[in-house]
Amino acid sequence: MTPGGDEYVQLLDASGSQSKRPLFGLSNEQLTEAMHTLGQPAYRGKQLSQALYRQWNTTFDDISTLPKDLRLALSDTGFVVGLPEIAETFRSSDGTERYLVACGDGQTVETVWMPGGDGGEEGDGTEEAENLRATICVSSQIGCAVNCQFCLTARLGLLRNLTAGEIAGQVVAVLKRQNVKIGRDRINLVFMGMGEPFLNYDSFMDAVRLLVNEVGIAESRMTVSTSGIVPGIIRFGAEKVRPKLAISLNASNNLVREEVMPITKKWSINDVLEAVRRVPLRAKERITFEYVLLGGVNDRREHADEVAALIRRANIPAKVNLIVWNPGPGVDFHMPLAEDVARFQSRLMLGGIPAFIRRPRGRDIYAACGQLKRTLKSS
Ligand code: SAH
Ligand code: SF4
Repeated sequence: MTPGGDEYVQLLDASGSQSKRPLFGLSNEQLTEAMHTLGQPAYRGKQLSQALYRQWNTTFDDISTLPKDLRLALSDTGFVVGLPEIAETFRSSDGTERYLVACGDGQTVETVWMPGGDGGEEGDGTEEAENLRATICVSSQIGCAVNCQFCLTARLGLLRNLTAGEIAGQVVAVLKRQNVKIGRDRINLVFMGMGEPFLNYDSFMDAVRLLVNEVGIAESRMTVSTSGIVPGIIRFGAEKVRPKLAISLNASNNLVREEVMPITKKWSINDVLEAVRRVPLRAKERITFEYVLLGGVNDRREHADEVAALIRRANIPAKVNLIVWNPGPGVDFHMPLAEDVARFQSRLMLGGIPAFIRRPRGRDIYAACGQLKRTLKSS
């Protein structure tokens, strides 16, 4: 029995008045099983998978590789194609786009497109000039239950988990919108949108597998960020196929971290570092520690030195991404001063820790880190 098979058969039996079941999000095995139930050979499952994950078809009419009566049978059985649709687009002056992606139940979730490369490999002459480079920031839940004090998404609370299809579907909807060609263009995925991926672990990892195996994006181009959910980090370490790992550290000691990230009372900084140390790293892989600089709260010289010491002591191959806090309505923190940001970075470097300052993207359209909130308007 393939994963999800029981549930699938039940849905078939009870079809008719049942809510429509999206095909997008099903694994190859599940698609083949669906075809099998309709008396179809396995290659039909493969064709369906190609239509969903390679051709990005949105309606049964588009799926020309399947005979018409088979498309009808799928529809009569209660299936819909189910690729999520972009309901609204907000465009920033820096080229960033924020989308509201419509999920099946009328809810929307936020996804961000950030054009432009990381610059790391530019100028080596091996790339075609017209190659597109971009990063897509993907949401894993609608809202979030973690309650970090500086984050706008936290204000929503957790509305619900996203399904694997809704997570992978955000990526495909944006790839389609931007006319991306897999294999030609360089696309990075960051699971850093709304929600805590490790509190929706199974759907998140199912989505990763779909994106790697069916859509064709390498896992080495993906990064997942967690607020430090220890059981999730431990499971993640055992995955054969997995994105790179980023940890939202955001404070240099438990006292400050408990204030800004109350989840620290459940898992201390040490608990998190211990779990991270047990994640087997690939060649040259480093863990990213994200550190949101909150003016006057965690941005002092001694904080930087404490972070450097923490990471050195943990003996984890790491780098630190410094993020200037992005303001949001009703979130009571201050942006750090530019000179404090620069000092923080240089203290980390002096302490032997590579540190980078992340350029804020799409702040004017509420697309920057921690600004995602399910809004129909741009404010
Ligand atoms: N829930 C996960 C991933 C989504 S948040 C996590 O917390 O890691 C992605 C990043 O945005 C995290 O590093 C988080 O600390 C940061 N962040 C949250 N609110 C922010 C804000 N207002 N300004 C800048 N960064 C913020
Ligand atoms: Fe959730 Fe991440 Fe925001 Fe914390 S920072 S509330 S974990 S989305």
